[in-house]
Amino acid sequence: MIYIHVPFCHRKCTYCAFFSKVESGEWKVERYVDALIEEMERRKGEQAHAIQTVYFGGGTPSILPLGQLSRIVEGLRRCFDLSQVQEVTLEANPEDLTHDYLRGLASLRFFNRLSIGIQSLDDDMLRLLNRRHSAQQAVDAVENAQAAGFHNISVDFIYGLPVGHRGQAPFPGGGTGASPLSKGVTHVSAYALTVEEGTALSVQVKRGRVVLPDEEEVVRQYHELRLRLMDAGFEQYEVSNYARAGYRSRHNSRYWNRTPYLGLGPGAHSFSFFESGSTSVAHVEKRRWNNPDGTVGEETLTDKDAFNEIVMTALRTTDGLALSVVPEGQRERLHRMMQPYIDCGWIIPTDNRYVPTAEGLLHADGIAASLFVA
Ligand code: SF4
Repeated sequence: MIYIHVPFCHRKCTYCAFFSKVESGEWKVERYVDALIEEMERRKGEQAHAIQTVYFGGGTPSILPLGQLSRIVEGLRRCFDLSQVQEVTLEANPEDLTHDYLRGLASLRFFNRLSIGIQSLDDDMLRLLNRRHSAQQAVDAVENAQAAGFHNISVDFIYGLPVGHRGQAPFPGGGTGASPLSKGVTHVSAYALTVEEGTALSVQVKRGRVVLPDEEEVVRQYHELRLRLMDAGFEQYEVSNYARAGYRSRHNSRYWNRTPYLGLGPGAHSFSFFESGSTSVAHVEKRRWNNPDGTVGEETLTDKDAFNEIVMTALRTTDGLALSVVPEGQRERLHRMMQPYIDCGWIIPTDNRYVPTAEGLLHADGIAASLFVA
C-alpha cells in the first residue's frame, strides 16, 4: 500500500499538531509535486508487495489543483503496478468539494473513496476550531460528492469539544434530514479531542479561554455517539472507526495488520519487513520516516517492539488480540495480566482471542501499555 502526504493547509486548525504548512502558493505546490514524483521514481523498488490501497492524507490533499493531482496520479501509474488496487482515498475538506472539483476528480478515474473532515455541524464550534467551512458546506460536500459518482464516503467528527458554546451537540444526530449520515455516508471516524502541546488550543486552554468537558462527559459522549451510529446502521470496528457492512477502511485495516507500506512526501512514514536470512527469524521489521527538513529517519524494530505494537493496535479493534500472534512463551503471562480486565468487563476472552468490550476499547491504550514486554 502507498501513503502520500500532502503537507499544505489553507489555515491551521486550533487543535492540530500534524505536520502541515499554511501556504499553498502555486509554485510551492508545483515544487512539492516535482519532489514527490522524483521520490516515487527513486523509491519505486522499495514496494515489493502487491499494492491494494493508496491513501492521500495530510494536511489537506483537496487543496491540490486538479492539474497537480493529475500529475501525481500519472507518476503513480508510471512507477507502480496498480493492477490490484481496490481502494484509493483522498482526504478532503468540505469547502474544497465544489461540483467542478468533484467532477474533475471523478474524471481522473483513480479515486474511489473520499474522507471528508467535517468535525462538527455547529457553526460556532467550527469557527472556534478555526475550520474554514460551515455546517451547510459540510452537508453540501457529501451531496456533491455523491452527485459526482462517489459512493464510498467517510466523514470525520470530533467529540469532547469545548463546552459552553451555543448549540454544540455531542454528535450530529442520525435521524434528522440535515445529518450527513442520512445521506448515504458509508464510514465515520470519530475522535475524542486531544490537546497537543504547541497548538493554539493548548494555549487557549491554559489561559482559560476554552474549557474542555471533564473525562466523565467525554466518556458519555463516546457511548452516545456509538449507540447513535449503531442505530443508524454502522458497526464499530475500532475505537474511533465505524462502517456500514463492507465499508471498513481497507487502508487503515492494513496498517493494523502490519502490512508493509510506502510513505511518500514530507512527514510520511513507511513500514517494511524483509527476510533476515536467518533460519530462526522469519523477518525483520523496519520503520522509516521522511523528516520535514528533508532528512530521513529509520529504525529497526526488535521482536519486543513489534509485539508491543501488535498488542496496542489489536486492542483498539473489535476483532481484538488473536492468540496466534502471541508467541507461545508469552501466552500464560499475557492471560495472567489480562485477568483484572476480564474481571471488570473490559475484555472478553474467547477460544482464540481477547476481545475488548465497548468500555474496554476506551481503555485500550492503558490496557496495552500494562501488557507491554519491557
Ligand atoms: S485541515 Fe487537517 S491537517 Fe490541516 S490544520 Fe486542520 S486538522 Fe490539521
